[in-house]
Amino acid sequence: MNINRIFCIGKNYADHVAELAHLGHAADGECVVFMKPASCIVPVGEAIVLPKNVGSIHHEAELVVLLTGGGRDVQVEEALDCVAGVTLGLDLTLRDLQTQLKNKGKPWELAKAFDCAAPLGEFQPFLEQDLQALEFSCHVNGVLRQSGNTAQMLYSVARQISILSQTWSLQPGDAIYTGTPAGVGPLVAGDTVMLEGAGLGRHEWVCT
Ligand code: ZN
Repeated sequence: MNINRIFCIGKNYADHVAELAHLGHAADGECVVFMKPASCIVPVGEAIVLPKNVGSIHHEAELVVLLTGGGRDVQVEEALDCVAGVTLGLDLTLRDLQTQLKNKGKPWELAKAFDCAAPLGEFQPFLEQDLQALEFSCHVNGVLRQSGNTAQMLYSVARQISILSQTWSLQPGDAIYTGTPAGVGPLVAGDTVMLEGAGLGRHEWVCT
């Protein structure tokens, strides 16, 4: 299935919200919704070409779900019927620029929707496993950076689908980056970044 739209949920793990508090990012208990164009995707096997001279570029390791569709006003109880596949991806973020934009009340696209901003693993079929009990991790150059469990999400995947469907008619090929746990940090050219999780596969990229 080709990817149609990429929806992203921000501020969905309390420990990650807390680690950014010193940058003035408010912890108000509400998730943030933003989008990236599908042209940001970097499939496994291709290099992540990092932008130059843009300050810090952070990895955010996230569970990503692929939807079969769903349309408008999906109820939370039925939302997981819309899930076709699961994998892991990176919501790459220009952290310094994002902080500037946030503090000025400006949109985030420049910091979130740049070329190569959405490395995306290969989707695994959704086998009705509990999406709120998945452990996953991010290693950079073999060193553990992020370790999370989807049980820590503030907004469950089903709730995210329901929320998005109040604004958009969900279509086949829509994907959701579901937020990142603590441990975000910088990537630089030459780094190898690897994501893995039980039932979610193992996905690796080299940064140039
Ligand atoms: Zn994110």
